Amino acid sequence: MDYQSFFAEKIDALKNEGRYRHFATLKRRVGSFPDALYYPENRDPRTVTIWCSNDYLGMGQHPVVLNAMTEAIAQSGAGAGGTRNISGTTAYAVELEDSLADLHQKESALVFPSGYTANEGALSTLSQLLPNCAVFSDRLNHASMIHGIKTGAAEKFIYNHNDLNHLEDLLKSVDANRPKIIAFESVYSMEGDIAPIAEICDLAEKYHALTYLDEVHAVGVYGPRGGGVAEERGILHRIDMIEGTFGKAYGLVGGFITGSKTLVDVVRSYSANFIFTTALPPAICAGALASVNHLKTSQSERAAIRANVAYLKSLLDQAGLSYLRGASHITPLIIGDSVCCKAITDWLLAEYDIYIQPINYPTVPRGTERMRLTATALHTREYSDRLVNALKNLWDEHHGFLNIRRAA
Ligand SMILES: *Cc1c(COP(=O)(O)O)cnc(C)c1O
Repeated sequence: MDYQSFFAEKIDALKNEGRYRHFATLKRRVGSFPDALYYPENRDPRTVTIWCSNDYLGMGQHPVVLNAMTEAIAQSGAGAGGTRNISGTTAYAVELEDSLADLHQKESALVFPSGYTANEGALSTLSQLLPNCAVFSDRLNHASMIHGIKTGAAEKFIYNHNDLNHLEDLLKSVDANRPKIIAFESVYSMEGDIAPIAEICDLAEKYHALTYLDEVHAVGVYGPRGGGVAEERGILHRIDMIEGTFGKAYGLVGGFITGSKTLVDVVRSYSANFIFTTALPPAICAGALASVNHLKTSQSERAAIRANVAYLKSLLDQAGLSYLRGASHITPLIIGDSVCCKAITDWLLAEYDIYIQPINYPTVPRGTERMRLTATALHTREYSDRLVNALKNLWDEHHGFLNIRRAA
């Protein structure tokens, strides 16, 4: 077999569908986010505005975070030096876990190298250990949850997105004595909507299921201390395990779970994703701790993102540009075609110095390709004015093209 040409054809198939992934090379600069330097191929770098960042509150450049990281490097060096089991449990990681347990009002917390590995590790472990477990998973759950459930190899029931009736039908269809897990998210990152968490907890109680909630897009942003949507709604105690990340609103990298001492200990003790990988560096843990602690008390970043998102949505309304009207800070503009979606984002970058990554299959279903706009705490009104003007111009200019692609 000619391996090279076999795989080259696989790449060509993506290109033909318009969903080959082009990465934009950027350099973020402290003090100027959401602007960053963009490095086009064979041309000089230039300044563009990022409209698709998950650094929702700008914590990736906050002095409190940067100082904590610099200090940790000066004191403790670069890496952790091992897995958590073999010399990698630094005092930085332990202090961070204490703060996270407090954030979610749980007994215990556990830090992972990423939110992806946290989901995969926790869900695979819990579902694998429970005998004859049935896992109920929202249709739009993140790939990391899906992979965790797959690895756990328990029987899986997929319920329609946020559909309580469908979820209850599926729960009812399973033997009352079987162990069950309901796995879902609070803020859905590609839809921008928020799950009916309390109602899902009602069902979990009725059918004796564990609740597993991914608050990756909500921690830092929602709740009076940044504890997520469950904190905002006063129902932290009703969730058995909450999973989050430092990669989004906290501005760094790394993931975590919180829950009872026993649940967290079982993941710590059984999850290969946790056991067999090097621990997060002290500087990351110190930065994450500074970020989490800062957002437990500071309200200004949350107030700013709310105001900026409301302003962006009002401008889109005025311009007649339709978006998914979720209750969160994420604003998805549905384009419905991968070629078209790529063309618009290319024009935005080339003509307006605005960077938005097109979101295509398999991240979202075919026919629902979209631009996912994230107004952060630092996207002031002027930024939204410029973005929506650019979108209006492009819609006017390329009217025919956009309609043709949509009708096809
Ligand atoms: C990004 C994301 C993750 C993974 O988190 P990382 O820290 O980036 O690995 C998990 N769940 C959801 C819903 C996400 O969007």
